[in-house]
Formats: sequence, C-alpha cells, structure tokens
Amino acid sequence: MCLFCDIAAGKIPSKVAYEDEEIFAFHDIAPQAPVHILVIPRRHIQSVNELTEADSALLGKLYAGIQKVARDAGVAETGYRVISNVGKDGQQSVPHLHFHVIGGRPLNWNN
Ligand code: AMP
Repeated sequence: MCLFCDIAAGKIPSKVAYEDEEIFAFHDIAPQAPVHILVIPRRHIQSVNELTEADSALLGKLYAGIQKVARDAGVAETGYRVISNVGKDGQQSVPHLHFHVIGGRPLNWNN
C-alpha cells in the first residue's frame, strides 16, 4: 500500500488542487508556507531515481500541472519553489514521486 496512491485514488481524503487522468495535486497536510501543494503522477513511481526517458511526456505533464497549481494559488508572479526530495539524505518520507510547490512568502534556502 502507498499513501499517495491511495490519496490519488480518493481512498484517503485530501484537499485537491488539480487532477486529470495522469496527474493529481493536493495541499500538503503540514504546509511549510502559505502555499504548499504536492503534485504527483497517479502511476506509482518511487522517486526521481526511478524516472526513465519513457517518462518524458509524463514529466512535461507534471510540470504543466505545477504551473497550473502555481497560477491558481496566485504565486506564479510572486515566485515559488519546486522541490522533489529523493531517498534518505533527501529526507523523502513518502516513497511516491512528488513535487512540492511552495510559495506565498519569501523563502530562505533552508526554507
Ligand atoms: P517528503 O518528505 O518530501 O517525502 O514529502 C512528503 C510530504 O507529504 C510532507 O510534506 C508531508 O507533510 C506530506 N503528507 C504526508 N501525509 C499527507 C497527507 N495525508 N495529506 C497531505 N500531505 C501529506
């Protein structure tokens, strides 16, 4: 079982920011800034490490989703950060590829 697979399938409730056939975006349960949205593929991919060239179209869609949620959240003009943590040293806590979209205040490098 995977937490983010279950969230994308609607089995675990979330505050949805965007969804389509391949992409799901929802508000982080522990926001680090006024805007903190997670953008994920519905298909289970563990992390950036597991991406292949065959996923290039999916990556384009993920970044289109990132742009859309940033626009809808009102941070496209003010700016935001896109982060994907990988593995132990990256402090990835959920092993399903996700992109944090964080903004709504000036960000320091360590948040
Ligand atoms: P990471 O540490 O990069 O793997 O990010 C995982 C993120 O998922 C963290 O920012 C958590 O706050 C967030 N998170 C964990 N469980 C939930 C949940 N049920 N709904 C929304 N966000 C969650």
